[in-house]
Amino acid sequence: MDKYLLFTPGPVNVAENVRSAIGKEDICHREIDFEKLLLSIEAKLLSLFEIRHKSQYRAVVISGSGTAANEAMLSSVVGDKNILVLSNGEFGERLHAISTMHNSNTFLLEFPWGESMDMDVIDTFLQQQSIDVIAMVHHETSSGMLNSLADVGALSKVNDAVLVVDGVSSVGAETIDMEKNNVAFCSSSSSKAIGSYAGLSFVVGKRMEFEELKSKPAKSTYLNLHKFYDSIHKHSQTPNTPAVPLFYALEQALENILDEGVAYRHAKIRRKAEVLRQGMSKLGLRFLLESQDMCSMLTAVFVPSHITVASLRQQLREHGIIIYEGKGCFSGKAFQVGNIGELSDIDIQFFLTILQGILSQKTSSVPSNVTPIFGHTQFPIIHNDNEVLVTEDGR
Ligand SMILES: *Cc1c(COP(=O)(O)O)cnc(C)c1O
Repeated sequence: MDKYLLFTPGPVNVAENVRSAIGKEDICHREIDFEKLLLSIEAKLLSLFEIRHKSQYRAVVISGSGTAANEAMLSSVVGDKNILVLSNGEFGERLHAISTMHNSNTFLLEFPWGESMDMDVIDTFLQQQSIDVIAMVHHETSSGMLNSLADVGALSKVNDAVLVVDGVSSVGAETIDMEKNNVAFCSSSSSKAIGSYAGLSFVVGKRMEFEELKSKPAKSTYLNLHKFYDSIHKHSQTPNTPAVPLFYALEQALENILDEGVAYRHAKIRRKAEVLRQGMSKLGLRFLLESQDMCSMLTAVFVPSHITVASLRQQLREHGIIIYEGKGCFSGKAFQVGNIGELSDIDIQFFLTILQGILSQKTSSVPSNVTPIFGHTQFPIIHNDNEVLVTEDGR
């Protein structure tokens, strides 16, 4: 097997130009070359977020996976104030764990995994308890649920709380309107829907909120969000040595999204999810969530009773297809199928064919000479803006 098809919610199969970007020339990160690269990435991130008042926002890039950006936010924003973490899954729990490490006044509202957050419960809690910061996950990757930024954003505004969002698995796939939804800081990483290698994360935030951090006690030397802001603000730099090759790759991945258009990219990912979901439904599979609750980059699927998740994953792996097992309470009960990165519609049809073979327990009849094909294939997409039917190649 020389190539894997990563049907995971990150890591992803990267585009060829991202693969080659990582091997660009050697530069010194304390020279103008890197400063240009960093500012180029920042500008592209603000465009990816479709920020309307760009002068009021900044983005910092951290060498470290998504958790580094989350820890930078949670260790830097709260000070000695009160933070409420909203959780309905594994990644909400992780935000809570990070926050308790740094903030003694951490409150938690937990909702069942795979169920949406109850805004009345949150509203009531906020009326009873003075809360200064609210933290939440946008796309709860453990179940595939897209939590409502609009609802929590409205509550944070009414209650004058700083809203901090983990957008690690939604940025690049779903719209995050920070301005409309009162989001002060949003984190994400390079290796999910943005389509680059793992190892970089970033925080987009309001300039004013970044400035505010100066008055807060530092709780981490390396993941000090104000230090990152100060460094880019004053010197167009990072506080410590950045992973330069990954910056090249991230810049290219962002350029790829902006070249085809943010709305176009979102529609492309949504369309792939629809094809996968229709195909899996036809095989009689049931999903964890109702379709209106799902994020467009991942589908959580109940495993049929006649097969185990471990066996399913192993048989798919033999055909070069990688999926994830469900996490936490879904472990052993569900599997996750992602649809980000360079997966063509032939790759998706290949996945569905192999899956059908495995589920009908006629694996031996699955032709072993069917090879996955990477890159461009005819893939119908509805462009969001003008409703024109286009294909990946024929735009
Ligand atoms: C993947 C992910 C993270 C970060 O995990 P890392 O292992 O640090 O990359 C955080 N939050 C969510 C919602 C995620 O999906």
